[in-house]
Amino acid sequence: MSKHYDLIAIGGGSGGLSAAERAAKYGAKCAVIESGPMGGTCVNVGCVPKKVMWYAGMLAHAVEDAKGYGFDAKTGALDWDTLVKGRQGYIQGINDWYHTYLADSNIDEIVGTATFIDAHTVEVNGEQYTAEHIVIAPGTQPVVPATPGAELGIDSDGFFALKEQPRRMAVVGSGYIAVEIAGLMRALGTEVTLIIRRQHVLGNFDAMLREVLMEEMLSAGINIMSSMEIEQVEKAADGSLTLQCSGGHSLSGFDSLLWAIGREPNTAALNLPATGVEVDKAGYIPTDDFQNTNVAGVYAVGDVTGRAALTPVAIGAARRLADRLFDNKTERKLDYANIPTVVFSHPPIGTVGLSEDEARALHGDAVKVYSSRFTPMYHALTEHKTQTAMKLVCVGAQEKVVGIHIIGLGADEMLQGFAVALRMGATKKDLDDTVAIHPSSAEELVTMR
Ligand SMILES: Cc1cc2nc3c(=O)[nH]c(=O)nc-3n(C[C@H](O)[C@H](O)[C@H](O)COP(=O)(O)OP(=O)(O)OC[C@H]3O[C@@H](n4cnc5c(N)ncnc54)[C@H](O)[C@@H]3O)c2cc1C
Repeated sequence: MSKHYDLIAIGGGSGGLSAAERAAKYGAKCAVIESGPMGGTCVNVGCVPKKVMWYAGMLAHAVEDAKGYGFDAKTGALDWDTLVKGRQGYIQGINDWYHTYLADSNIDEIVGTATFIDAHTVEVNGEQYTAEHIVIAPGTQPVVPATPGAELGIDSDGFFALKEQPRRMAVVGSGYIAVEIAGLMRALGTEVTLIIRRQHVLGNFDAMLREVLMEEMLSAGINIMSSMEIEQVEKAADGSLTLQCSGGHSLSGFDSLLWAIGREPNTAALNLPATGVEVDKAGYIPTDDFQNTNVAGVYAVGDVTGRAALTPVAIGAARRLADRLFDNKTERKLDYANIPTVVFSHPPIGTVGLSEDEARALHGDAVKVYSSRFTPMYHALTEHKTQTAMKLVCVGAQEKVVGIHIIGLGADEMLQGFAVALRMGATKKDLDDTVAIHPSSAEELVTMR
């Protein structure tokens, strides 16, 4: 006999856990099926370990900067083992907390890989489970190219498994994961070469953010090889890696190669054809505004939907879905417009809304842009200085703010409140009428001329 639930979530990551957690609050009988560690990508091989490493990089910078403030500070050697053990211990604490939390919330934890038998039945380790509502939230996995020798490299999961700090690392990719890892490893003292196919990193971000970040990466000592593709990876007799690249270029002497070229949906094990759930060309599961797939009672949330692959998006969509299904909030859904996001680069980026290019494509001459670039006061006494740049993209006679883009120290914590203002329809005048906080970098956003 199969066990029956009101809701089963496939995947114990940000999306699946949030759907079950919220549904259980309304009294629904729920289960979460997870094949790996509880918490999914974000907790285990994503946001959390990445942010710990970013903090380590920021501390390395701070120690250097402290000299200018009169401290007899010296960075010294990083004990990678201490850093990694501490990080993994922190993650283990989150994993453990989840197990207790699920048990306390009356949510069954099913360990193993879920495969659909039909749209309301899944099988795990030979046992069948049925549910009125099934939420598919299996996330994505890193892509490694078909390039000869590519297996000599690692992906972002492999990065978080590194037992030793690479001395010379090649990072391939131009997305946020590539620039984040390149930046933090450079800050930790590794020689980093970033290899990108195009001219710029962060292709779909505002041009100002891309340009300033690339300047800052170069000034931090990252070697950026643009318009370059790797055609073959070879291992030399001393164990180091050589990259044969387009245009006859050869880059050698790396002890680590990281592929950060994209991710693909984790749907292979699900046996989706048994459900009739459609996938798009890239394998993502399309949903309507309410996270419904094309099959009644089957939903998809999070990265597997191919929309805004961010933890708070997966959580937000999943919670609203549970509100709709079990709390009779029939119109409840996530608004995917104006999602704020941060890139934990060095320095960090905070961005929300339309880039200048997007705004001009939509609104033409009705767009007015305000921008500012300065050295933040933190650097008044430091030897190495980073830049801060900000841009407000406004539209129409009212100068409604439709885009806010910040790169610089503190951008990561600065953006959240401004994203609320943008969402509420703030105009440039609203920002101007807000009294500045002085001395801060953020005050520039309410004093731009
Ligand atoms: C390096 C990196 C850094 C990131 N940094 C950030 C950040 O700073 N901020 C941010 O917002 N987002 C960040 N993200 C993105 C974030 O991690 C994801 O958006 C988020 O985890 C998506 O949640 P999800 O529930 O869709 O999938 P996931 O968290 O990936 O969870 C899916 C789970 O499903 C399980 N699973 C898959 N198939 C099956 C199956 N058939 N049966 C059982 N279980 C299955 C998997 O094991 C996995 O645990 C980062 C991602 C990476 C890779």
